[in-house]
Amino acid sequence: MVACPCEVCASTDPKDKRLRSSILVQSSSTTLVVDTTPDFRYQMLRAGVRKLDAVIYTHPHKDHLAGLDDVRAYNFFQHKAMDLYANEMTQEAIVREFPYAFADTKYPGIPDLRLNRIDKDPFTVGDITITPILVWHMKMPVLGFRFGDFTYITDANRIDSIEKEKIRGSEQIVLNALRHEKHLSHFSLQEAITEVQELGVGQAFFTHISHQLGKHSDIQPTLPPGMNLAYDGLVLQA
Ligand SMILES: [Zn+2]
Ligand SMILES: [Zn+2]
Repeated sequence: MVACPCEVCASTDPKDKRLRSSILVQSSSTTLVVDTTPDFRYQMLRAGVRKLDAVIYTHPHKDHLAGLDDVRAYNFFQHKAMDLYANEMTQEAIVREFPYAFADTKYPGIPDLRLNRIDKDPFTVGDITITPILVWHMKMPVLGFRFGDFTYITDANRIDSIEKEKIRGSEQIVLNALRHEKHLSHFSLQEAITEVQELGVGQAFFTHISHQLGKHSDIQPTLPPGMNLAYDGLVLQA
């Protein structure tokens, strides 16, 4: 956290250097990113992502959306609009917060964006099939996504049992776990552990971690078998 002197923020362990939550999903021919965080530009530079086919959005909070303008670099090199997949609420926020990208007369160099609507049903981008999973972020509906046997859910504090059926059978899950203490709109670490156990997913990686959770090296050894703290740059193979 900016300006924070705590031991996590002062840590020199790279696993304690946490940018905002996002994932890159790649097949042999298709590359997607989930959310454009305020760190999106640096995340793409750091990971050396030369080609991006689409962005899939979980929800419109600033820590998941603010970096959208920087997709324009992909517009320049790929000579086409960037496909954005989002539910209606997130689409409205995109148009409201980046109005210049949707103006009739466009300033040169602005991002070229194409909105695609996510409904309840699975959809396909390139050769990747994506199943949306509705979860709750206090009162806000947020989308999680299942890609084959891998499920990604962030910014949830409740998952309805009907949506849990869409997650069951996954081999890996990334799930948000903010801190030890209970929070209004995020799972705590213990709540996230309980969710994973109930879902019966063998391998779990916790994300959207606050500095209040503690250092990676202190918390990781306390987790049940198969459960892990995610960290920036972590790569999972499906
Ligand atoms: Zn949020
Ligand atoms: Zn968030």
